[in-house]
Amino acid sequence: MDLISKLARALGPAHVLTGDDTAKYASDWTGTYVGAPLAVIRPANTGEVSAAVKMAAEAGVQIVPISGNTSLAGGTHGPGALMISMERMNRITEIRPAARIAIVEAGVVLSQLHDATAEHDLSFPLTFGARGSAMIGGALSTNAGGSNVLRYGNTRSLCLGLEVVLPSGEVLNLMSALHKDNSGYDLKDLFIGAEGTLGLITGAVLKLVPQPQAYATAMVATPCLDAALTLLNQLQQATGGAVEAFEYMPGEYMDATLAMFPEMRAPFDTRHDVNILVEVGATAARDAVPDGTGAVPIVTLLEQLLSGLFEDGAVLDATVAQSDLQRKQMWARREAAAEVSLGHGPVVNNDIAVPLDKVATFLDLAKTRLAPVAPDATILTVSHLGDGNVHYTVRPKDPQPEVINGIMETVEDIVLSLGGSFSAEHGIGLAKKPSMDRRKDPVALAVMRSIKAALDPDNRMNPGKVLP
Ligand SMILES: Cc1cc2nc3c(=O)[nH]c(=O)nc-3n(C[C@H](O)[C@H](O)[C@H](O)COP(=O)(O)OP(=O)(O)OC[C@H]3O[C@@H](n4cnc5c(N)ncnc54)[C@H](O)[C@@H]3O)c2cc1C
Repeated sequence: MDLISKLARALGPAHVLTGDDTAKYASDWTGTYVGAPLAVIRPANTGEVSAAVKMAAEAGVQIVPISGNTSLAGGTHGPGALMISMERMNRITEIRPAARIAIVEAGVVLSQLHDATAEHDLSFPLTFGARGSAMIGGALSTNAGGSNVLRYGNTRSLCLGLEVVLPSGEVLNLMSALHKDNSGYDLKDLFIGAEGTLGLITGAVLKLVPQPQAYATAMVATPCLDAALTLLNQLQQATGGAVEAFEYMPGEYMDATLAMFPEMRAPFDTRHDVNILVEVGATAARDAVPDGTGAVPIVTLLEQLLSGLFEDGAVLDATVAQSDLQRKQMWARREAAAEVSLGHGPVVNNDIAVPLDKVATFLDLAKTRLAPVAPDATILTVSHLGDGNVHYTVRPKDPQPEVINGIMETVEDIVLSLGGSFSAEHGIGLAKKPSMDRRKDPVALAVMRSIKAALDPDNRMNPGKVLP
């Protein structure tokens, strides 16, 4: 019996897709990486994943895991491979409010978990624009970041336990709900951020946090990024570290967003170069419950702080959301970023991290040094400024391979000179493999290759990704 027939017998023919039925899995979100897989299977549980991986091993077929397919690094490209989709493994097995944990299957969509935890007044605080499609398995495999990293950390810091199907088909059960466990190497952390190259994540134990009872959200214009950092640090001091998001949108980004989505209104009457979306989340009643005048204390605090900074000239303009609708409108501008930056043909999509106080230097150096490398290129920046992550998208006039390579190398040079990373939150996939080859410490690369060889000696799990 060939592999497809065996899989159909094990999973049911409806869950083994071939030919035209695989079309929606054959292209990544950006449309850059296109290629038909051998087949796509949709297992219902860990046992079926394990059985399928063993069958693929016997047949010598390569495997590409796929969750929400929102990767921005080409991580799900699988021409000729067996793609294993997590979409049917979408059960939230348990929410334990007293322990503040959720036990989930890997195919749970991020927004599905947000809705379920909100019913317990709890939150799984990982969030970003693709939350309606991205799944827990994909978020763990890319160690996704998003806009709340400042307060809650990235996906890795929100995970207590993991279940993984190894390339051999064995099930590695690390489904611990423990906050402390020093019994040997922390294997869980190996698979988080491995982009499916070491095994297939099938389940996780996730940390939950109290759901904010009120938000203070504002658009703020500052004269420069240094002034924005003053705002951030004063606000952290005043709120005990309750700033959830601190997002930077330059004037050019605002122009491009409003041109693409004219229904979104400009945040201010005047155009500003430095626009910040700031959000503070209040969990305590003393900050969240309206006073006798109807004012919400956390909002009053933000307004007072902004007005003090306005007097000092550190804030040029500000508008504080007065309703949930206004808050959503503010977020809509930021969450349009992937479409605005990547939606117009070939770009070099840099996803870099530098220390917070080096973001302005990075932007200045990049502008100067890219001018001769890619003359007249269109540059769009949007940044999770609160954690030093800059999405720096360069659209060259002449997208020849040597120009694209020149842009990547120039950005990498600057980033490394500032003590930064060429990959902050989207991962390596295929898109950042040249950077990995050039810039990753060779000893670190050798250790990674040893780990890969030990777990996946036949190079069958997401081959060709991450490691040059
Ligand atoms: C509009 C938009 C906004 C975004 N914003 C952000 C952002 O702010 N921050 C951020 O970090 N990312 C962001 N991303 C990128 C992307 O959403 C994240 O990387 C997300 O975590 C990927 O999840 P997914 O379920 O779509 O994974 P997929 O795209 O399906 O897979 C991603 C990678 O993980 C592997 N994989 C998938 N499932 C598994 C599994 N179960 N086991 C092992 N490996 C697996 C895949 O092979 C692939 O290499 C954004 C993307 C879009 C389209």
